[in-house]
Amino acid sequence: MNELLELFSTNIYFRLVASLILGMCIGSFLNVVVYRLPIMLDTMWRRQCQELVGDECKININNNGFNLMKPASHCPNCKAYVPWWSNVPLFGYLFIRGRCVSCHSKVSLRYPIVEIVTGALFILSSYCYNNVLTLAAVFVYVSCLFALMLIDLDTFLLPDEITLPLLWLGLLCNINGLFSGSLANSVCGAVIGYIFLWALYWLFKFITGKEGMGYGDFKLLAAIGAWIGWQNLVSVLLLSSILGIIYAVIMRISGSLESGKPIPFGPFLGGAGIITLLFGAHLFPIF
Ligand SMILES: [Zn+2]
Repeated sequence: MNELLELFSTNIYFRLVASLILGMCIGSFLNVVVYRLPIMLDTMWRRQCQELVGDECKININNNGFNLMKPASHCPNCKAYVPWWSNVPLFGYLFIRGRCVSCHSKVSLRYPIVEIVTGALFILSSYCYNNVLTLAAVFVYVSCLFALMLIDLDTFLLPDEITLPLLWLGLLCNINGLFSGSLANSVCGAVIGYIFLWALYWLFKFITGKEGMGYGDFKLLAAIGAWIGWQNLVSVLLLSSILGIIYAVIMRISGSLESGKPIPFGPFLGGAGIITLLFGAHLFPIF
């Protein structure tokens, strides 16, 4: 085991290949989280509403016993359970040629894409960091942010179940300033990240009467700030705004986005957070 860890730290080719395989497996798990977590939260909120209003008002609650493990993966169209080998990252999708083995309905191309992108993110991470423990922390950071980006894109939600543990873990990893330089930088990063977007939200609401962001965005930037420190928040905000504007312009030109329709900000914050942790100091040398 020690020899394997030694090889991982010293041999870049071994590290890249191992990271790719691990990343694709984690990507397969992220597909499950991104699909199931919002449904689990919806069920939980409905239960809480029912408890609050009592029996006089019936709230539709379904998906009893639905969690990350149960039921086993099945086709959303014919409900047939999928064979275990079709869950193998990427190759499973290729073996079944992108169709359900029972009813032959198309399986979304997004599943293998998420696996490939996670694998690519892990490769990039292992190119930037070679210490095993540091890299394990980076893998967790990258995976959480990528899952949040996809969930926000699908549902406009950034679940506390991911953002808050990510924030605590960021502070914990930086007790000796691993990524941010010092614990003080991390604590300030979390506080300033939250307050900056919170203030922007209220300013926007005061001027326009509309809500421009959600509280999930504040918590997400707080979590990112805890990991990379307050100094790097400038780079995250700049990069996420640029990415968001480019996305909105492309969507408007292609006709996919109607005027006045909101776009989620989380995917751009998350993307900028990943890029900044990996390439931080080289992004905007002026800051
Ligand atoms: Zn099917």
